[in-house]
Amino acid sequence: MPRPLSRKLCRRSKGLSQRRERFPIEGQRTLRQIGICSVAGLLVAFVAGCGAGGAAGGGAEAGEKIQVAVTISVVRDLVEQVGGDRAEVFSIVPVGGSPETFQPSPRDAGRISESQVVFENGLGLDSWVEDLISSAGNEEQTVVELSEGLEPIEGGEHEAEHGAQHEEEGEQAHEHAEGNPHFWLDVANAEYYVERIRDTLSEVDPNGAEEYEANAREYLAELEELDEYIKERAGSIPEERRKLVTFHDAFPYFAEAYGFELIGVVLENPEAEPGSREVAEVVRTIEEEEVPVVFTEPQFNAGLADTIAGEAGVEVQELYSDTLTEDETAGTYEAMMRTNIDRISEASS
Ligand SMILES: [Zn+2]
Repeated sequence: MPRPLSRKLCRRSKGLSQRRERFPIEGQRTLRQIGICSVAGLLVAFVAGCGAGGAAGGGAEAGEKIQVAVTISVVRDLVEQVGGDRAEVFSIVPVGGSPETFQPSPRDAGRISESQVVFENGLGLDSWVEDLISSAGNEEQTVVELSEGLEPIEGGEHEAEHGAQHEEEGEQAHEHAEGNPHFWLDVANAEYYVERIRDTLSEVDPNGAEEYEANAREYLAELEELDEYIKERAGSIPEERRKLVTFHDAFPYFAEAYGFELIGVVLENPEAEPGSREVAEVVRTIEEEEVPVVFTEPQFNAGLADTIAGEAGVEVQELYSDTLTEDETAGTYEAMMRTNIDRISEASS
């Protein structure tokens, strides 16, 4: 049954509010506010559905794998790289899904309650997970917001359409820091995530600390190579052509790290289609800036990008941001980043 939040949760909340002071919220509302009651209801329904034989609780026996829940498949890969054979990792948002429009199910609530560790990204990307966590009330659970401690770039998509609804509710407790949540698209930030994952797993499962350390060391070396590769390929694109029009606002950290200019976003708000004026503006920007390609992302309907590309007379290509793919194109974080820079580089040269 639901118990009070653990101390870990409370400490983390303090960190959130401290950061919020540096990046004040202006009427910003989060997905997690959509339905606290409905999510709590989901968990109750799940536990009731399991009956007395339900698997609520968690806590692995000796020799069993530690159970880890993450919100997005990109982070699942990072945790699997560090956790190796010792960790079983479950991504709540399935491959191909969008964390920004995701609705948790009773099954997700159950999986969360059984997990010893939960990794969330933070900054509003996956804040719905916090209702699942508090409903689960697993005091033994370690919850880590991976982006905590990184300096956010302002902007990023939020759920503007839900704002009015929550104004009415007068809900203050779930505000979050402002800034773009897509840190991992700069490899240096992914390395930061990996270090935090290593430290967390080592703390929760001290017997595996050496293994986590070794896995992380090897993987961080691969990420260093990946970072070099992206810098090299980006650097070979003439500077005046290093301009991107992406589908949603996921690439500011990528752009900053690798020297690109973000000149347009097709979908300002992942939950609402843009109007004809916005579409016309994107088309005009593409023409003025002579951008050769419009990038789609698999978690969104490509129809809109096709329309824009057709009107502007440019190519359409797919990039990866919030989800991996089932195939090898973006089957891992590393593959995803290589495919992205290869496609950008081919389209821009
Ligand atoms: Zn996103």
